[in-house]
Amino acid sequence: RERAREILESVKGRDDTRLGVEAMDLLDAYGIETPEGDIVDAPADALEVAEGIEGDVVMKIVSPDILHKSDIGGVKVGVADEEVYDAYEDLVTRARNYQPDANIIGVQVQEMVDLDSGVETIVGMNKDPQFGPLLMFGLGGIFVEVLEDTTFRVAPVSESEATEMTEEIDSAPLLRGARGRDPVDVDGVSETIQCLSQLVTDFPAILELDINPLVATPDGVQAVDVRLTVD
Ligand code: ADP
Ligand code: MG
Repeated sequence: RERAREILESVKGRDDTRLGVEAMDLLDAYGIETPEGDIVDAPADALEVAEGIEGDVVMKIVSPDILHKSDIGGVKVGVADEEVYDAYEDLVTRARNYQPDANIIGVQVQEMVDLDSGVETIVGMNKDPQFGPLLMFGLGGIFVEVLEDTTFRVAPVSESEATEMTEEIDSAPLLRGARGRDPVDVDGVSETIQCLSQLVTDFPAILELDINPLVATPDGVQAVDVRLTVD
């Protein structure tokens, strides 16, 4: 809670009150599971983090000016240790080419999550002028715009409301294991919705927040990406 307050205070009074993955600790602080990893500002540090993570890693540009990272080639998936240096330089170059004066905080080095056995979902919140904080749940990844398969509740939600959200989207069967796939951790998704509900209730200054994707696998859920805007 204190950590969450610190992060949110840090953007107060800035011209730009948007935060990206540098706000991942906010999720951690509220019990939302995030992949192992860290944000660093030098290639050597990136390598050190990558060496501490089993297998390949994902590397992402961290900049409040670049909140749609893959649009500029700012996400590299499946990076081996020996590729970390080049990947780091390339991410920064791409960011600079996109916006020469971009405020680049560094690069996030993150554990790979298993997208093959998982489903990409979105959990978010938007302030509705009439209803206040509106929680959203739906399929994430490439499906979110195509299918518009989402559901909403006003925060704070009860446990049963959060569970209903996971059950009432059209693609709910996908979560429960369609076509011989293992069912994903739907309880974990519901818990994440409740944690987010608590976070936005405790901090009304959060105007909007998106976890996209929240990857749900049979073994649990992982918030892989986050962005938010603070009042
Ligand atoms: P952005 O939405 O800003 O483009 P993301 O962090 O969401 O950046 O990454 C884009 C996509 O890359 C994700 O939707 C996901 O498919 C993939 N990806 C990101 N992080 C990971 C990860 N840790 N493991 C596996 N795939 C990932
Ligand atoms: Mg994303």
